[in-house]
Amino acid sequence: MRELIRNAKLRLLRMHFEARVGHIGGNLSALEMLMTLYHRVLAPDDLFVLSKGHSAGALYTTLWSVGKLREDDLVQFHQEGTSLSGHPPATGIPDVIFATGSLGHGLGLAAGLALGKRLKGAPGRVFCLLSDGEWNEGSTWESLIFAAHQRLDSLTLMIDLNGLQGFGSTREVADLGSLKEKLESFGLDVEAVDGHDALSLERALLQPPTGGRPRALVARSIKGHGVSFMERKMEWHYHPMAAEQYAEAVREVTES
Ligand SMILES: [Mg+2]
Repeated sequence: MRELIRNAKLRLLRMHFEARVGHIGGNLSALEMLMTLYHRVLAPDDLFVLSKGHSAGALYTTLWSVGKLREDDLVQFHQEGTSLSGHPPATGIPDVIFATGSLGHGLGLAAGLALGKRLKGAPGRVFCLLSDGEWNEGSTWESLIFAAHQRLDSLTLMIDLNGLQGFGSTREVADLGSLKEKLESFGLDVEAVDGHDALSLERALLQPPTGGRPRALVARSIKGHGVSFMERKMEWHYHPMAAEQYAEAVREVTES
């Protein structure tokens, strides 16, 4: 997994550099979660929703690493007419069911999928990756109430708790306090986990649901993880990389 993740990280950096676009910080915080989910956890009947749609690059890179997207696809990232847009589109990409990135809506979609599976008697689990900034959105909390009330234990939330969002730290913008405690008080089965430790993520994701409660992994992570000059820096939410910054990022990841 270590080698796979390093290669995916290099491909992710290249994709963002060549397209000259930002959002690399939040992609780097989520990459291990997506790679672990796709390589070690997802079964054929399982479904995934990327609620933090601005991490589309990490999702595309992950789909490429499992052979669901090709090199020819990745070079189209962010290009005119591409299906690999900066936020996932509703059609044209394997495994992508919904257009996301209008933040705060992915959890409602995932909860609906989980309820749909139950009503149809269909097998499989539903996973949803959210940012921490998305907990500013009332729709996320509504979906949480719904999922707990419906006892949707096939649903697992993965929360990329990097402590930063587009315009500041989550503490400055709208302090969440202990998200773990809040989720527990809503009736979820919650586990805190290191968002960059693939083994811990795998173990936590494979844990079967207990007692009719949706499950949530509060994954502590670092925005810009693995590139020292980007780590924990809000500006890397939006900054595109200059050539020398890209070269430095590649050097660091290659040597990691
Ligand atoms: Mg964040």
